[in-house]
Amino acid sequence: MESDSIECPDCGQPKGLASGTQIGQILNCAGCGALLEVLALSPPEIGHAPQIEEDFGE
Ligand SMILES: [Zn+2]
Repeated sequence: MESDSIECPDCGQPKGLASGTQIGQILNCAGCGALLEVLALSPPEIGHAPQIEEDFGE
């Protein structure tokens, strides 16, 4: 059995999900600083979190 480990979709940095992690929780990648949203727990899956603090304009 592998531990609950996932990789950042941006930089591939392995991330471990702490116990108690919930779907929808926002994680911060230690590798590239991307905001990642927990999409699923079993198996673990993460994706880009919606960017709400940064506005790059049109
Ligand atoms: Zn990353």
